[in-house]
Amino acid sequence: MTPKAEFRHVRKSFDGRMEVIPDLNLQIRQGEFLTLLGPSGSGKTTTLMLLAGFEIPTQGEILLDGKSLHRLPPYRRNLGMVFQNYALFPHMTVAQNLAFPLEVRRRSRAEIRRRTTRALEIVRLAGYGDRKPGQLSGGQQQRVALARALVFDPSLVLMDEPLGALDKQLREELQFEIRHIHRELGVTLVYVTHDQGEALTMSDRIAVFQGGRIRQLAAPEDLYERPADAFVAGFIGENN
Ligand code: ADP
Repeated sequence: MTPKAEFRHVRKSFDGRMEVIPDLNLQIRQGEFLTLLGPSGSGKTTTLMLLAGFEIPTQGEILLDGKSLHRLPPYRRNLGMVFQNYALFPHMTVAQNLAFPLEVRRRSRAEIRRRTTRALEIVRLAGYGDRKPGQLSGGQQQRVALARALVFDPSLVLMDEPLGALDKQLREELQFEIRHIHRELGVTLVYVTHDQGEALTMSDRIAVFQGGRIRQLAAPEDLYERPADAFVAGFIGENN
C-alpha cells in the first residue's frame, strides 16, 4: 500500500545556520496513529510543519499519497491541524467558528450546516453550536478546535501538543476523545508530544526524536521492551 506520507532524505536548516533536520526518512502508514516523541528542540514541530507544507525542505522530498507535496495545491492536501493554542474566535459562536473556514471557501449553506453538525457530533458537542467559546470549559474549547480541524473531512490530521495547556484530568479526557476520533474516522493521525506516557497510551507507532533524527520507530510495547539505544531507554523510562 502507498504510504499516506513519506519523507525522503529531507534536510532542513533555517537561514543557512545549523541543520535542524540533517536527513529524515520516514514512511507514515495509511490510517495509523503515529506519535513524534522527543525532548524540546529535537525537531518534532519542524517535521510537522514540513508535512503541513508550512516549511519547505532545504533538500529532499515529501510525498503525500505518493505525490510530491509541493506540487499539490494547498486545497488538495486535505489536512486538518490542531495546535496547543487553539485560538477560537471569541466573538463568534461555536457553530460560526466551525463555519468560518467553509465560508472562506464559499461552500453552500446546506453543506456548511451538514459539515458543522457532523463535526460537533464527532467531538460529542452536538447542541453546543450556539454557545460562545467563553461559555465553555477549557476541555470543551479544545474539542471545538478538534471539530474545526475535521470540517473538511481531512484524511490526514496533524496535532502539535494539543493537550499541553490542559490539566491532568482534562488531558486524559481529551486523549480518549482523540483516540475515539482516530478510530471512528479512520484518519491518519500524526501527533507531536514530549510526554512519554501520552505517547505510549495513544499511539500505534512512536518515532523517538533526538537532535533532528529518529532514534527509533516502533510500536509502544517494542519501544518499552526493546529500546534501540541508551537514549531511547532513558527517555522512555523517565516519569515525565
Ligand atoms: P521540538 O518541536 O522538538 O521542540 P522544533 O522543531 O520546534 O523542536 O525545533 C528544533 C530546532 O529548530 C530548535 O533548535 C529550534 O530552535 C530550531 N528552529 C525551529 N524553528 C525555527 C525557525 N523558524 N528559525 C530558526 N530556528 C528554528
